[in-house]
Amino acid sequence: MKEYKSDVAVIGAGPAGLTAAIYAARAGLSVTVFDGNGTGGQMLLAHEIENYAGFKKISGMELSDAMTAQAQALGADITFSSVLSVSPNDGAFSVTSDVGVSAHRAVILATGTSRRKLSVPGEEEFIGRGVSYCAVCDGRFFTGKDVVVVGGGNTAVGDALYLSKICKSVTLIHRRDSFRADQILVERLNACENVKTIMQARVEKITGNFRVESAQILCNGKDTLPSPMILPTDGVFVAVGSVPTLPSLEAFSSLAKDQSGYLITDERCQTTIPGLYAAGDVRAKTLRQIATASADGAIAAVEASEFLVSHPKNKGTAV
Ligand code: NAP
Repeated sequence: MKEYKSDVAVIGAGPAGLTAAIYAARAGLSVTVFDGNGTGGQMLLAHEIENYAGFKKISGMELSDAMTAQAQALGADITFSSVLSVSPNDGAFSVTSDVGVSAHRAVILATGTSRRKLSVPGEEEFIGRGVSYCAVCDGRFFTGKDVVVVGGGNTAVGDALYLSKICKSVTLIHRRDSFRADQILVERLNACENVKTIMQARVEKITGNFRVESAQILCNGKDTLPSPMILPTDGVFVAVGSVPTLPSLEAFSSLAKDQSGYLITDERCQTTIPGLYAAGDVRAKTLRQIATASADGAIAAVEASEFLVSHPKNKGTAV
């Protein structure tokens, strides 16, 4: 009989991974959750969550703590280590993390996404000195200051709203003439007196000496703004979307991904590799929300449980 560290390795401890851990543990499986960044994932970047059913308003930190405590109370083993690669292992899986290699009978990839870079001159140079990707983490360093937010989705508009309560002024720069963000957030944004929006504009360059001092903007809109325009600012918050975060999966040559690198699954969260599931934002999908990530986690865990019952060949003992 083979020896496994646990029945299921859940990689990533955001809402998808934590929900998968809860469902897998309740199905009687032993579960190891890996996340080198601690638990919570992108939830931790949310100052206020208002669209997770059951909570009129809850902070990302509170929701993360509640999900983590629930998973642990059910017996999930949460290990704060980063997974480097996943590979086949005699019909099961080897997971290589920064603390070693372990074997698991099934794997749920719930590694989420990380923030996309703007890729303009000055961005890399000023990270931590005025360029930020997390308003909730870094906003307080800009108390009473003038900042720029770049992007037009829920993150950018949410960040602009959050920063408007801390900063003297917020300028939101978006490349199109309409927002992608939810209407309710856009309406709140429009009601903020210290928020200005510049539409159909792009940040071309971020400049300064030791810290950010200005953003160079190319304006294509109807406003009679100079273009290029040098906008003095103390900070630039980049919120231009996300890219999938994945450990190395090179050993799985048949694994299907979409053009942007998101994992393609069926509606049961199954990848093209038997026993390997994808859940949450890392999966190719149309709506990335905590609710849809949690739903994926539940589906993937139940499917993994059924897979293990129907594949007794993978039976082993936990070590
Ligand atoms: P997103 O919805 O993909 O929006 C990214 C925004 O950045 C878009 O407006 C896009 O412009 C713009 N953009 C992309 N590349 C750019 C570039 N190189 N230069 C300038 N602008 C660029 O990403 P997100 O706002 O991070 O949200 C990600 C997912 O999480 C979404 O599904 C979102 O609904 C969800 N989310 C939900 C909430 C909530 O429910 N409260 C909060 C945060 C995030 P275009 O519009 O022109 O494409």
